[in-house]
Amino acid sequence: MIDMLANERDAGRLRDANVSLKLSALGQKIDEAFCLDNLRQLLEAARPRDVFIRLDMEGSDLTESTLRIFEQVYPDYPDHVGPVLQAYLKRTARDIARMCELKARVRLCKGAYKEPPEIAYQDMPTIRARFIEYMQRLLLEGRYPGIATHDDVLIEATKRFAAEHQIGSERFEFQMLYGIRPETQRALVRQGYRMRVYVLRDRVAALLLPATARAQGERLVRGEEPVPPLSYRTRSRCPGRTTLPCRPFMCRSSGTERP
Ligand SMILES: Cc1cc2nc3c(=O)[nH]c(=O)nc-3n(C[C@H](O)[C@H](O)[C@H](O)COP(=O)(O)OP(=O)(O)OC[C@H]3O[C@@H](n4cnc5c(N)ncnc54)[C@H](O)[C@@H]3O)c2cc1C
Repeated sequence: MIDMLANERDAGRLRDANVSLKLSALGQKIDEAFCLDNLRQLLEAARPRDVFIRLDMEGSDLTESTLRIFEQVYPDYPDHVGPVLQAYLKRTARDIARMCELKARVRLCKGAYKEPPEIAYQDMPTIRARFIEYMQRLLLEGRYPGIATHDDVLIEATKRFAAEHQIGSERFEFQMLYGIRPETQRALVRQGYRMRVYVLRDRVAALLLPATARAQGERLVRGEEPVPPLSYRTRSRCPGRTTLPCRPFMCRSSGTERP
């Protein structure tokens, strides 16, 4: 997956190469050291190809372990790995401070898992209020945060805060899922914001293969050897999502999550 995306980007068919994955798919629930070792192998492959690896955040039983694993690899790969923080978790105020201190590149989302009221806010007004508070702190003190939401209230709050504090649109990005609110995605790009669209792994090849086949045909016409599709064969071994910065959406994107 890493090679496939990097090849597509280098060939100019993608703006960017970015993979988002769950550490539980790398053995986190079996053994943390095993998971860490697997993640290091991935990052060793990702760094030379300049591919960013986003560590999705899962249920609260894995929050501390995920941040601990992140903190162990971050010093060696500061530009190629970043965590996710969930606004609904009560602990997130501390984790935001912890990640701002490190200048880690954070994705902020509401949180998607069912969590008990002792550790997670349950009502939308509170979750939104916490999201806005953390978004503001990340914009002021963090490094190139990803604001992951389809919620207009949060999108507008982010735009407003950035404008009020002269935070340029190149200093953060919005993130959404492929197929959800595509008109909003396009509108944000038209307004000058960066928009990263995440595509489920199984859709990536379907979306990329036609372009790749076309490119291979063009190579043959030019009398060049076709590029062996090595990376496609490794596809099933790579867990998680990837980002496919669709051209219409990413026309103002930097190309990476690097600030
Ligand atoms: C890029 C990205 C990465 C994420 N990564 C994580 C993660 O690592 N860990 C985690 O716990 N959660 C993750 N999430 C999920 C997130 O926590 C929320 O559960 C989810 O985004 C729904 O909240 P919302 O802010 O988008 O707004 P909502 O208020 O839930 O949605 C606003 C509107 O968007 C539309 N919408 C939103 N979601 C969907 C959907 N799935 N299908 C169809 N329409 C939809 C609906 O029209 C809805 O009215 C991620 C979300 C995104 C966009």
